[in-house]
Amino acid sequence: MKKIQMVDLKSQYDKIATTVNASIQEVLDNTAYINGPQVHSFQKNLEDYLGVKHVIPCANGTDALQIAMMGLGLQPGDEVITADFTFAATVEVIALLQLTPVLVDVDMVNMNISIEAIKKAITPKTKAIVPVHLFGRAANMEAIMQIAREHNLYVIEDNAQAIGANCKFSDGTKKKAGTIGHVGATSFFPSKNLGCYGDGGAIFTNDDDLAHTLRGIVNHGMYVRYHHDVVGVNSRLDSIQAAVLNAKLPLLDTYNQARQTAARKYTAALGGHPNIIAPTICEQCDCHVFHQYTLRIVNANRDGLMKHLLDKGIPCAIYYPIPLHSQKAYLDARYHEADFPVTNQLVQEVISLPMHTELDDEQIKFITDSVLEFLK
Ligand SMILES: *Cc1c(COP(=O)(O)O)cnc(C)c1O
Repeated sequence: MKKIQMVDLKSQYDKIATTVNASIQEVLDNTAYINGPQVHSFQKNLEDYLGVKHVIPCANGTDALQIAMMGLGLQPGDEVITADFTFAATVEVIALLQLTPVLVDVDMVNMNISIEAIKKAITPKTKAIVPVHLFGRAANMEAIMQIAREHNLYVIEDNAQAIGANCKFSDGTKKKAGTIGHVGATSFFPSKNLGCYGDGGAIFTNDDDLAHTLRGIVNHGMYVRYHHDVVGVNSRLDSIQAAVLNAKLPLLDTYNQARQTAARKYTAALGGHPNIIAPTICEQCDCHVFHQYTLRIVNANRDGLMKHLLDKGIPCAIYYPIPLHSQKAYLDARYHEADFPVTNQLVQEVISLPMHTELDDEQIKFITDSVLEFLK
């Protein structure tokens, strides 16, 4: 059996090496390492794929979130509501800009920000909501946009984990995650669903004025060369990364389908076990692109299972082991444990199994057999 990895970037690369290498070679040949033609073509290619008016490439997903918030003109003291159960980057940029993070609990079934918790957290100072499409599953954008309209709030989608996922609306329409709020942010970190070979990120918006503002912010606040109208940052997607992404974007749907296929096999093998709550997978499951495949282990020894799998050479991980409201950097007297029952429970129960585009049946069987062997 091929060695099991949490993310198998090498096997993925081996299959596309000729195309990727040629794409990188073009950059080496014309030496436009910064803002080369590859960056512009990737921007257009991603706009077409997502069906969004503007893509603004930048250096990484954390910058993308920060720049999105700068572009909206959020001011120190403005309250920004986000999920307690996510990667720290989401709350980090809120704090860094001296905005006030307001962490709220998540939903037990989809693990995304709880609609009820958002409603309860709104105050006169609330300016924005940052839903995270966690583990690849689209958050309930219809409900979130409804709340935002009622309270005149901005919505910034953290789409670092769900590029390609579709959000469904009750009128039957679908839109790509990240393109529904006022602005969306994504990451091309190598292990993400659309990963480059280093750091990369992008911001999405359908708003022409905001897009213009964002394009200046990523480039030192310059709209005319050497005229600095606003305080900006230096955040660029470099041409080599854009070249890699141009080669990989046409494969994104195939990659996401491979993840969904692996997820289906996992859930078929594990879903019925009394100690396992497996992710549900709908038939036309394009609302979940399985950045992670995350189980809940209930009334059983989750940490023992993790050790058992690691001992058998099966990588696995706890995303995320500590709620953000309990992290030293984000402690706040306004938080009460009773407000975070779901996150507090999830951090005890979740375990993520290997998930990538190259998992084969033999590996999946070995992994699921090993899980069942421990739980009996
Ligand atoms: C990866 C990730 C980010 C940050 O992306 P980087 O490119 O690593 O800066 C932000 N939010 C979430 C939810 C992520 O998973």
